[in-house]
Amino acid sequence: MPNTETITEKGVVIKRTRNGLGICATKKFKKSAVLFQVKGRVYNYKTINKISGTFQDNTFRFGQETYLSPAGYIGDFLNHSCKPNSAVKKLLGKLYIWAITDIAKGEEVTIDYSTTLASDDIWTMRCNCGQGECRKLIKRFNTLPKSLQQEYIAKNIVPTYILRM
Ligand SMILES: [Zn+2]
Repeated sequence: MPNTETITEKGVVIKRTRNGLGICATKKFKKSAVLFQVKGRVYNYKTINKISGTFQDNTFRFGQETYLSPAGYIGDFLNHSCKPNSAVKKLLGKLYIWAITDIAKGEEVTIDYSTTLASDDIWTMRCNCGQGECRKLIKRFNTLPKSLQQEYIAKNIVPTYILRM
């Protein structure tokens, strides 16, 4: 187990989950609450592509040519679900995770990775989230069924910077 003791944020904790380590709520969160900031270092895509592996897998799209690596911070442990309870928001140059549903104490915090993959992101992932809605293969936002794209946009859970790219 990595040294997760030093990686702390109020209200969430790193724990073993269905798919390895993940982030769980240590208290109730109301829908729309901000859970934590996705801290990390911003890299140009060329650097990210060179390093690849888990480092690349865990990055968050940040801008036209940039990705944020949460290595060393709690965001590194944020898992995907095809039925997420959270989403990414970019505000004044910072990324935040916020609750898109009420979250119970002990519940794993998850986002739908597709909501953070822009039209030029070719990254894919086999999914084992266990939800009835599971899409099995996770790809960029514009490959989602149109109805799901519309639902996500209506719920405001796709960051505008992703939609613009
Ligand atoms: Zn899934």
